[in-house]
Amino acid sequence: DFEVLVIGGGPAGSAAAIYAARKGIATGIAAERFGGQVADTMGIENLISVPYTEGPKLVAAMEQHVNEYDVDIMNMQRAEKLIPASQPGGLHEVRLANGASLKSRTVVLSTGARWRQLGVPGEEEYRNKGVAYCPHCDGPLFKGKRVAVIGGGNSGVEAAIDLAGIVGHVTLIEFGAEMRADEVLQKKLRSLSNVEIITSGQTTEITGENGKVNGLIYTDRNTGESHQVALEGVFVQIGLVPNTEWLKGDIELSQHGEIIVNDRNETSIPGVFAAGDATTVPYKQIVISMGEGSKAALSAFDFLIRNSAE
Ligand code: FAD
Repeated sequence: DFEVLVIGGGPAGSAAAIYAARKGIATGIAAERFGGQVADTMGIENLISVPYTEGPKLVAAMEQHVNEYDVDIMNMQRAEKLIPASQPGGLHEVRLANGASLKSRTVVLSTGARWRQLGVPGEEEYRNKGVAYCPHCDGPLFKGKRVAVIGGGNSGVEAAIDLAGIVGHVTLIEFGAEMRADEVLQKKLRSLSNVEIITSGQTTEITGENGKVNGLIYTDRNTGESHQVALEGVFVQIGLVPNTEWLKGDIELSQHGEIIVNDRNETSIPGVFAAGDATTVPYKQIVISMGEGSKAALSAFDFLIRNSAE
């Protein structure tokens, strides 16, 4: 049995495991894929005190740091069900996809998030062949070319502003009648000469030929007319989905599926804590997830010293 069982091996989970292990308590970490989103990231320039690193390098460093301590790392293990302790201070159970079951007095949930998909024909087929989700990572690949950004929220508008400085032309397509981004961002976007903004546009298909994106088709939701845009890249910016489907019904989630946490990373279940992109914490970033994971582990430790076994 563990005293702290961390589910998820991204920045939040790694930080939680290190903080817990440094208290000398039995710590385990089960992760579907150690490293999380960082493993899919290229340049990282906002991890304070590290002016530049790259995803795979940071993942290796996180793993090495966790390995400095007596942490039981269970990689390639997907959690499927959380069964909360039947009495306060009792053992929580986490069932894994491989049929095994882990027990722990406290649990830190840090299963992160993933980009929301459009779900239209062509999106899957041309993924990484013109369909992208991360402007910071893939923007430079479209230097001088034509791209679309799907989504007019803060992330979409920020992406469009960012890309406009690199690519030849940006078409931003917003589903609603108006963009939802902060006015200051919209104003900035409107000031750019190589950006076209389409509202009330529903993207219905991403087209391609010879294994590469060559355009997209959208429906004007006011007129019902279908339009084709010729381009080389499509950046999908319609939100992040927390990896919390497996927790539905067992723990309190926000309307967006985020695990609701307070400022001590406590969830609706005593002894179960959560950290990082999977939670309601604002701003989903590496340095924030690391801080949140650390807080969650300290809260778990505090819980343990206040709730002696049985
Ligand atoms: P994740 O990193 O999402 O880790 C989640 C972990 O949980 C993974 O190990 C995953 O395998 C595991 N998991 C999920 N479900 C289960 C399950 N059911 N059972 C077991 N394990 C599970 N942030 C920055 O600060 N700077 C950047 O430059 C930056 N660039 C980015 C570029 C890209 C392409 C992406 C995708 C993200 C970027 N981010 C960046 C955001 C940053 O990566 C995230 O904020 C951060 O990784 C969140 O950490 P986390 O530990 O909460 O979750």
